Amino acid sequence: MLEVTGLTAWYGQAQALHGVDVRVDEGEVVSLAGRNGAGKTTLVRCLIGLHGQAGGAVRLHGRDITGMPAHRRARAGMGWVQDDRGIYASLTVEENLLLPPKVSDRAWTLPQVYDAFPMLAERRKAPGTTLSGGEQQMLAIARVLRTGARLLLMDEPSEGLAPVVVARIGAIIREIKATGAGVLLIEQNVKFAATVADRHYLLSQGRIVETLDNDEFRRREGDLL
Ligand code: ATP
Repeated sequence: MLEVTGLTAWYGQAQALHGVDVRVDEGEVVSLAGRNGAGKTTLVRCLIGLHGQAGGAVRLHGRDITGMPAHRRARAGMGWVQDDRGIYASLTVEENLLLPPKVSDRAWTLPQVYDAFPMLAERRKAPGTTLSGGEQQMLAIARVLRTGARLLLMDEPSEGLAPVVVARIGAIIREIKATGAGVLLIEQNVKFAATVADRHYLLSQGRIVETLDNDEFRRREGDLL
């Protein structure tokens, strides 16, 4: 589904990514962990088409999207769950859910979304400004599902949220996986990553230094980062 090969990125003369290879298959949840400054944000920005100084190749569903601008990547099925959550504060929850353009026939309907996110159903008339951090994160995920994107890039979805909300987000990620979509989870919370991901990449100083299955990842959870 997603195949990244030899990805490089620079900020001026400084190289932030040094030939990164990442792959996510259908129905697979893959985590990418790394310390601050490892290059996680840069990698996400390269994948969504927001980092100009990049080399290497990115393929989505077998299609080369390397040179594509961000809006065309989104249309090709690259679903980005923004870390700042990108919610329209002046609109209600439901209005936020009605906005995303459909990119495939897998787009979730409103009833499907409300079924999976009862919290959002209860708050459908609430303005974006009044949502808690957890509700905002749910809405950000739901908005991407509304597009029908087959690959979801999630940037630190557990950050700053209460354990009960993090557990709910984990359950939602498993539901997404069950639909056959792929998820690339950028996550410093290794405990959370271990509960949802099938496979893990460790990024350090702009390089993938290890690829681990979940058993190995769990065994080494305490000393990975
Ligand atoms: P964090 O978790 O702190 O966001 P990260 O793993 O996302 O870290 P990046 O933000 O991608 O890491 O940074 C990777 C490297 O690129 C770091 O060495 C960082 O100093 C450098 N870098 C990031 N943004 C810029 C920038 N705008 N200009 C110059 N260098 C940058």
